[in-house]
Amino acid sequence: MRCDYHNGFLQVEDCDLGAIASEVGTPCFVYSRHALEQAWQDYDGAFGTRKHRICYAVKANDNLSVLKALQGVGASFDIVSGGELERALAIGAAPSDLVFSGVGKSEAEIQRALECGIGCINIESVAEVERVAIIAKRLAVQVDVALRVNPDVDAQTHPYISTGLKENKFGIPIDAAIAVYQRVADLPQLRATGIACHIGSQLTSIAPVVEAVTQVVRIAEALAVAGMPLEHIDVGGGLGIRYEEEQPPPVAELVAAMTRAIPERYTVVMEPGRSIVGKAGLMLTRVEYVKPNENRDFVIVDAAMNDLLRPSLYDAWHEVRPYAEASGGEAVRCDLVGPVCESGDWLAKDRTLAVRPGDLLAVLDTGAYGFVMSSNYNARRRPPEILVEGASFRVIRARETFNELLANERAHLIEK
Ligand SMILES: *Cc1c(COP(=O)(O)O)cnc(C)c1O
Repeated sequence: MRCDYHNGFLQVEDCDLGAIASEVGTPCFVYSRHALEQAWQDYDGAFGTRKHRICYAVKANDNLSVLKALQGVGASFDIVSGGELERALAIGAAPSDLVFSGVGKSEAEIQRALECGIGCINIESVAEVERVAIIAKRLAVQVDVALRVNPDVDAQTHPYISTGLKENKFGIPIDAAIAVYQRVADLPQLRATGIACHIGSQLTSIAPVVEAVTQVVRIAEALAVAGMPLEHIDVGGGLGIRYEEEQPPPVAELVAAMTRAIPERYTVVMEPGRSIVGKAGLMLTRVEYVKPNENRDFVIVDAAMNDLLRPSLYDAWHEVRPYAEASGGEAVRCDLVGPVCESGDWLAKDRTLAVRPGDLLAVLDTGAYGFVMSSNYNARRRPPEILVEGASFRVIRARETFNELLANERAHLIEK
């Protein structure tokens, strides 16, 4: 997103971040509407005239207004839970535009999806095939399904977000796929329309994706020969983004390489999440204290691991930019840490920053897997989310109140 200094102060699009912080307080997440719409259009444009469908992966950022903006530019949605299904329905997404992924769908989640007429269920095990069939039979409906296969390809990403190796819990082993499609063909409630894979997130090279897609196409072609032709090939999530030194290829390059590997007659389905919203968001936080230490100072800010978990969970690196270009202070080596009672509560390590208490900082590239991973740990209220549109901004999720935080327990409080 456009995030530059104007007259010495940081703006998102044409909106001053200091004005946002004064109005809604810190910490808060700020998203650029233009940036997330543009990122979606980059994918859409890259496919040109190829039959395709881009299903934004809701889990990356599930704010209703974010979903609504993406729906406005033509997005379908990839969901991984009953909660995400409710979010998609809440913005008026057509159920037929939804793909339901995930390794552990419950009976209740499948039933709700079938009742509202889900577009496609991406099934991840033989047991799930049977479960979906039983529920569909009970409801007397037929449902389109794809099998998510596990191609045993190394995505070369962080182990926690690598999903395409056979030791990962995801998908049906690729060698078993044809037998499972044969089982699906015997079940009148299921109609196998596609095949899916997703080898991991924060992908920065094309080769593993093409390798996985090639294997998936091989299965699809074998199924066609066996009289079970498919209509679509779902290639999974999108590219990684540049947080620090990563060099993800341009979207157009990935799309070109994939579509070359997929025969024209298939619709290509893609489920990008991170690359749509990641660079379209930042988190604003204010410095509470600067605490000198032997090797480097602790800059204690008002945001913590409960607001942005990625550093603690994945050792993730996010650029930190001061709101005021020239703070006047002396730059020192420091760790940016939060108020939570964990040594793992840090946002950035070993940075050189000139900061004083009260200064405002922007933690960049936090639009994806940011707010969605937030929690109430240490009884902290989850932060508000703000959408910038040109020179104006609006709150798209209010900061939680202490009342909201306590309500579900107050109603059930023991007497003594
Ligand atoms: C997480 C996930 C995605 C999105 O991946 P990104 O790397 O954020 O693009 C897509 N599909 C499935 C099945 C997922 O689990």
